[in-house]
Amino acid sequence: MASFPSLLESIDDLNFTQIDVLLSRAKHFKDNPQLSPFNTTPKPIIATSFLENSTRTKHSFAVAIRRLGGLYIDFNAETSSLKKGESLEETFLTLFYQGVNLCVFRSSVSHQLSQFKENLPIKLVNGGDGVNEHPTQALLDLYTLTELCPDLNGKTISIIGDNIHSRVAHSLMKLLPQFGMKIILSGPLEYLPDSATLPKGVELLTDRDETVKRSDFIYLLRIQKERHEGKTSNDNYLETNGVSLDRLKKLNKIIPVLHPGPANIGVELDQALIKSSLYKGYLQVENSIPMRMAIIEAMLLNNDQNIGKVNGEKF
Ligand code: ASP
Repeated sequence: MASFPSLLESIDDLNFTQIDVLLSRAKHFKDNPQLSPFNTTPKPIIATSFLENSTRTKHSFAVAIRRLGGLYIDFNAETSSLKKGESLEETFLTLFYQGVNLCVFRSSVSHQLSQFKENLPIKLVNGGDGVNEHPTQALLDLYTLTELCPDLNGKTISIIGDNIHSRVAHSLMKLLPQFGMKIILSGPLEYLPDSATLPKGVELLTDRDETVKRSDFIYLLRIQKERHEGKTSNDNYLETNGVSLDRLKKLNKIIPVLHPGPANIGVELDQALIKSSLYKGYLQVENSIPMRMAIIEAMLLNNDQNIGKVNGEKF
C-alpha cells in the first residue's frame, strides 16, 4: 500500500496516488461488507474528539471504526482537561500514552492542527476545522461522484450556496480539479470568494439558473449561520438561490444533486427534491463509511515511529 501521512489536515496532505488508493480501497470495503481488517489483537483504538456539533461525521467515523474491527472511544472534550486549560498537545499526548492510535478532531478554529505538522503527538484526522477544510467529506464526495460517473474528466460541478464559509467547498476545490472536474461556485455575492483567489479550474457565477444549465452535478451548501458575524437573511433564498425539483425540471436538467448535510428544507432545496431520486445526500452518507474505513486503515498502517515524541526525547 502507498505510504500515507500521519496527519490528514488538508487535501494538500495527499498526493494523487494516495487518493486513488483510497478510492479503490473504499470500493473494496463497500463491495465486501464482511471485511473487518482489524479483527486481530491488539485492536487499534481510535478516538473522536469533536469540539463542534456533528451528526453525520462523528457517527460515520464511529461506524467505520467498528466495521474495521477497531475499538472506538468518544473523547468528550467538553468535560476534559482542555476545559481546565490543558493544551491540545498535552491532551493528544495523554491519549497517545493511553494507547489511542488515532484521533479524529473537529474544531471551530481553522488550522488548529497545523501546529502539529512537524511534531505529531498522535495520528490525527481533521474532522472539519472552522471554515478551513473538511478533507474526509470531500474524499467521500469524490467517491460518490465516481460511482455516479466513472469518468469525471471535463464534467462540471456547481457548488451553490455559502461557499465562503464552507470548509467542504474549500476541500472540494482542491480535490475535484485533480480529477479533471470544472467547478462553478455560485450563490449570492456575499457568499462567494474574491475571484482573484480562485484556483485553476474554478469560476464564479451568480446567476442560479445559468449555473444549473451549465452543470453536470449540483452540490448544495447550507447557509453557515453560526459562522456569520452579522444577521443572516434567508428571505426568498429558495426562490432566488436554492434549487427545487420543479426548477430542475423547468431548466430540463435532470442531474444528480449532492449535499454534505445537514440540509435545510425550504432554504437551499425543497422537499420534493430531497425526496426524489436526484438527491444523492443519502448515498453520500452511505459512502462515508467505506471511505472513512479506507482513510483510517491507510493511516494506521503507515507505521510512523515519530508519533508521541513531541520535541524529541522520550524519558
Ligand atoms: N457537515 C458539513 C460540515 O461540517 C457541512 C455543514 O455543516 O454545512 O462542514
